[in-house]
Amino acid sequence: WGNVAGKVAVVTGGASGIGAAIATALAAKGARVVIGDLNDNAGHALANAITSSGHNAMFVNVNVTDWPSVRSFFAAADAYDPISLVFANAGIGERNTVWTDLLETETGQLAAPDLSVVDVSLRGAIYTSKLALHYFRQRSDPSACSLVITASTASYNERPNLPLYSAAKHGVIGLMRSLRHVVADSPVHVGAIAPGGTETALFPARAVDAFRAQGIPVNTVSAVASAAIYLATNPATNGHTITIMGGQYTE
Ligand code: NAD
Repeated sequence: WGNVAGKVAVVTGGASGIGAAIATALAAKGARVVIGDLNDNAGHALANAITSSGHNAMFVNVNVTDWPSVRSFFAAADAYDPISLVFANAGIGERNTVWTDLLETETGQLAAPDLSVVDVSLRGAIYTSKLALHYFRQRSDPSACSLVITASTASYNERPNLPLYSAAKHGVIGLMRSLRHVVADSPVHVGAIAPGGTETALFPARAVDAFRAQGIPVNTVSAVASAAIYLATNPATNGHTITIMGGQYTE
């Protein structure tokens, strides 16, 4: 598995954490990587680091919640060369007081910042998936094309203190499972990764410490990236989700 040499691979949320590990691993395997992220400084720095080590990468700013921005991003990436692999990975954490606030105030409303976790993880995955399939269909030979969405163990095991994150991550599994039927009669395939706790900016050191104190292993970003690339390069995995939990019980 894992032959990505010469392919153009798009990674949203690619400037940090799991996305950066996917981008770095793909580039090391010979892919031409397009890193998409809101964070210009981190995105440019990663693309420069990858090219300095003799591999191919470029950074293009994208806000996955904004349809015109996602369209421009895909157009720029496809101009590099036709896109083969798409990783819909961008995501943010939830303000974990949101539900408490709602319960405490009779008039409490979900405000835009509260809903941004749903916007980035779910709306962002929908926009990214739609354009991925659109560009795959333009290919004369779409046989090597695939879409991998980053879900979470929260896609199965709801988190009591993260209702909106859990809702968004349940949603992306539904999106991927539906899309597997859309692509079923084509050579394109789709899949999802469902990481458990993985040490990134989104899952900070104090959370890592709390996991370890309970004896729960924490994933490395490279293990999660490896699972994502495995899915992306194996057509037989159409419709499947790989859970990466470093030993944490989830099912
Ligand atoms: P991270 O914060 O290190 O990286 C997320 C990246 O997404 C950042 O570079 C950020 O700038 C970018 N981003 C945020 N909003 C964006 C937007 N609107 N448009 C474009 N880019 C945007 O976090 P991570 O842990 O690497 O998260 C990556 C994915 O993995 C997310 O979908 C997250 O929900 C998922 N995940 C993480 C864990 C974990 O424990 N770290 C576990 C399960 C799932």
